[in-house]
Amino acid sequence: MSNHNVDSGERSDESTTDVQATFSCDKCEQKFNSRQELKEHTDTSH
Ligand SMILES: [Zn+2]
Repeated sequence: MSNHNVDSGERSDESTTDVQATFSCDKCEQKFNSRQELKEHTDTSH
């Protein structure tokens, strides 16, 4: 029997399918593409 070399480099599954980071307001259901927009929203709307 021959031992196949063990895969030592265990990488975590990085699901980088989309660069769509959606920031959702926790006070209402609005969503924003950036934290800046969300901050401005919470500052002005809440
Ligand atoms: Zn909101």
